[in-house]
Amino acid sequence: MNKVLENLNNKQIEAVEATEGRVRVVAGAGSGKTRVLAHRYAYLVNDLGIDPGNILCMTFTNKAAREMKVRISKLVHRAHVNDLVCTIHGFCVKFLRRDIHRIGYPSNFIITDEEDNKLLAKQVISEFQLDTKNITVKKFLSEVQLYKALNPYIETIILPESDLPQEEFQNDYVKRYIQLQQKNFMLDFNDLIYFTIYIMDRHEEPLNYWQQKLNYIMVDEAQDCSASDWDIINHLKGGYDNLFIVGDPDQCIYEWRGAKPDGFLSFPAETDIILNQNYRSTPNILDVANSIISHNVNRIPKDLFTKTEPSKIAIHYHGPSDDEEGNWIATQIEKLSENGMAYCDFAILYRASHLSRKIEQALLRKHIKYAVWGGIRFFERREIKDILAYFRLIAYKDDLSFKRIINTPSRRFGNVSMTRLQEIATYKNASLYDSLYKNINSGVFNKPSIVDFIRLIEGLTEKSKYIPVSELFDLILTQSGLEEMYRTEADNERLENIAELKQSILEYETANAEDDINLETYLQDIALYTNADYKNDGETVKLMTIHQSKGLEFPVVFVCGLSEGIFPSHRTIRERKKNGEEEERRLMYVAVTRAEKALFLTESEGYNAVTRSDKYPSRFLKEIKDDLLEIKGDLTKEELSQLFEGTQQLIDDIENDVIPTDLHIGDKVAHKFFGFGEIIEESSSTSYKVRFEKGERFIQSNFLTLWDGKKTLEELFPKRYNNSNGIGL
Ligand code: ATP
Ligand code: MG
Repeated sequence: MNKVLENLNNKQIEAVEATEGRVRVVAGAGSGKTRVLAHRYAYLVNDLGIDPGNILCMTFTNKAAREMKVRISKLVHRAHVNDLVCTIHGFCVKFLRRDIHRIGYPSNFIITDEEDNKLLAKQVISEFQLDTKNITVKKFLSEVQLYKALNPYIETIILPESDLPQEEFQNDYVKRYIQLQQKNFMLDFNDLIYFTIYIMDRHEEPLNYWQQKLNYIMVDEAQDCSASDWDIINHLKGGYDNLFIVGDPDQCIYEWRGAKPDGFLSFPAETDIILNQNYRSTPNILDVANSIISHNVNRIPKDLFTKTEPSKIAIHYHGPSDDEEGNWIATQIEKLSENGMAYCDFAILYRASHLSRKIEQALLRKHIKYAVWGGIRFFERREIKDILAYFRLIAYKDDLSFKRIINTPSRRFGNVSMTRLQEIATYKNASLYDSLYKNINSGVFNKPSIVDFIRLIEGLTEKSKYIPVSELFDLILTQSGLEEMYRTEADNERLENIAELKQSILEYETANAEDDINLETYLQDIALYTNADYKNDGETVKLMTIHQSKGLEFPVVFVCGLSEGIFPSHRTIRERKKNGEEEERRLMYVAVTRAEKALFLTESEGYNAVTRSDKYPSRFLKEIKDDLLEIKGDLTKEELSQLFEGTQQLIDDIENDVIPTDLHIGDKVAHKFFGFGEIIEESSSTSYKVRFEKGERFIQSNFLTLWDGKKTLEELFPKRYNNSNGIGL
């Protein structure tokens, strides 16, 4: 039989062979959707002779794109897996590289990540002398995003011919932020999407180019596409109208971020294919998944079955504390790996990233190697940022990079020099680097260390035109003094990260050997990646949020922190009611269906700072038919059903909205001892600085009650104030 069609069932073969027109595959988790996509790609290339350069295959995350590439490369000649197997942002970068000049940007535009955005926001905050008590960097950036979503900012601010009066920028910090982005030709992740749509809407040539090029378009995880993702897909498919989308409505977990499952459900497919055999998980695990998701009212029922070997392992562990919960997980991993399993067979999933801390401590104690996916982004680490800033300064001469490295390592370029340079730059409307370059002979700047710096950057700029990025990397490290600086700091982790970066550059060069790559294309391509996508973390246990686990699979899966209010998140339910609850349940379904052979669901007792109450097992545990889970830990079935009464109480509280809400700066609050006050600062996620009549205090959030301005202290704290002697707290 044809290799490409081997190991596929009839429905899957039907999907692979349905190459023409609009085809939709709707199927449950682990039913081979992604497999079909990979095989279909291979079928088009190997059997129909389609050039891979004419197939666009998009998926959701970089991890998933990488997984897709691995699967495809097993089926086709290596040279046939190209860069058009990518994420939607990855595609936008390619699109913009060719056509961003239409809105006045050079093709070597800069893609900024969260940290860059924060730096720029801070710059504007200080320029406008905004009161950081009222506007945090996070809030600032979300105002920018909201503005961009609602306003035609490309027309009014970005385009070269846009002529917003200068006062608008002086009076409006959001506009000023966008103006600075424009000045430096910087795009954040959302800009990539908006710019692409803007050009597609208005310019026929690039649209035609891509429509003619893309004979076949395939999209994985289509249930999570947002309206703008669909906009891009619909523009592209215009040429040949061969669009193949696969998805699972039960795994839609990004509605909170604007995903529109309706786009998937109402897609005008000419061929619809349903896959209903699960190949990933044991029957027991699948039963657990089905029994959870069947509690969602708003869904199309699916009949997913499996023929894989039955096994018994679906376990609920209840621990006396979160330390014990972590320990228990670590012990299971230890035992199973003694019995022949490898660390990379395990994944530990959680609802929110802060839940990883206790688990990490337990793994460390037992010397189990682990990797946290999506922790600090690799490219946000200081040492990596430093080197990339050198790269960027060489390529773009931009101010952000200049500020980052002028004193890294120290060149004694002090505040006085910087202020002077800033003045010159503003006056001449030039970049900091150019201003320094032109004024290097003037008194303040004319120091050997600064002259050397200019020489270094000029020399490397010249070389960057003909040497590979990896060689440039070596030159930067040695000639700038960075390497020496890190060695003196003797921080091994930093040195390892630097070695890792070098390795990744070499891999990048090999993977793109046939393309015309240079420093700018490299910088654009890596800007889309995070640690999780890039680092090679082979023999380790993987820790990640459930959102990051989408599309992946692991032999053994632990889902931890399954306490009511944490998972499902009571905030999501409070904000989005039934829709929020159902999305949380789909998230649980995603988590459970990642497991192939064994599934452990864990939770523990203690105090829950989020709901400000004792912890009880999640409603999702309660929903699983009790013969499907084996209970571990010091707990009988009777005790568990008692705990579930607590769960029910908490569910009622959440539903009736009596769980205390989050506090914000400016909120009026009451405290049993200090009386009424106002929140003036968030000092951490669970504590606040409050201004009371008698002075300011830092108070933990669970000691504060939101005050409606009406209730008296006696009404709010009856125990304290009705006490006859007036003391006891
Ligand atoms: P998810 O919804 O989680 O993204 P999916 O539908 O994309 O899952 P895949 O990841 O493609 O599912 O497949 C799940 C597992 O089942 C993979 O390990 C895949 O190789 C295997 N598989 C799928 N179809 C078959 C088949 N016909 N024969 C053998 N194995 C299969
Ligand atoms: Mg998949």
